[in-house]
Amino acid sequence: MSRVIVVEDDFEIRHLVAETLARQGHDVESAATAMEGLRQVVGSSPDLVILDLGLPDLDGSELLRMIRAVSQVPVVVITAREGDESVVRTLDAGADDYLVKPFSVAQLEARVRAVLRRAESGRRDGPIVIGGLVVDPSSREASLDGEPLDLSPKEFDLLRVLAERAGEVVSKRELMAEVWREPYGGSERSVDVHLSWLRKKLGESAQQPRYLRTVHGVGVKLVEPES
Ligand code: CA
Repeated sequence: MSRVIVVEDDFEIRHLVAETLARQGHDVESAATAMEGLRQVVGSSPDLVILDLGLPDLDGSELLRMIRAVSQVPVVVITAREGDESVVRTLDAGADDYLVKPFSVAQLEARVRAVLRRAESGRRDGPIVIGGLVVDPSSREASLDGEPLDLSPKEFDLLRVLAERAGEVVSKRELMAEVWREPYGGSERSVDVHLSWLRKKLGESAQQPRYLRTVHGVGVKLVEPES
């Protein structure tokens, strides 16, 4: 269970977000103004903040800067402002991810899960070891049977996400969300292409898998190979 603070002045959106997260088992507090939100963030050291940019008393990006001055808590920004420039500015200002209004409950859930998981893996110490495969998220290095793997940034992220959830089937949509940060656009074809490159570097193929197992119609999972 994580402690989440929702800062949003729109009553309906605030309730939708708070109820969705509470239903997922999170401990949720909410605020309708920037000042109340700041008071809560300082007061209850949350695990995640959902922050609307259009607030009545202060612009959400100002609040984000104030939060960043005191805390490294993950922040997902809600914005009505579409367009790459405002999204890039928001991420530069210290947001971890963003949702553009109107967004669906599924989008909200996916972003929250991804951000909490990233925060969790950042806290985890040391490399992940699965059989002969070693994946170190902090140094972004991976090796197989003691030999360093030469992976592109996307290939590494793909391997890291699968390693963090070893034994679990991860859907291509989730991989789109976590590696490409595009849960609802983009093409699953990129996932397939990068998976096949990753397979090749791991010295295996879809026909003769070892670490990477495709579960047809569901997704892919990383497992310790049978010797
Ligand atoms: Ca608003």
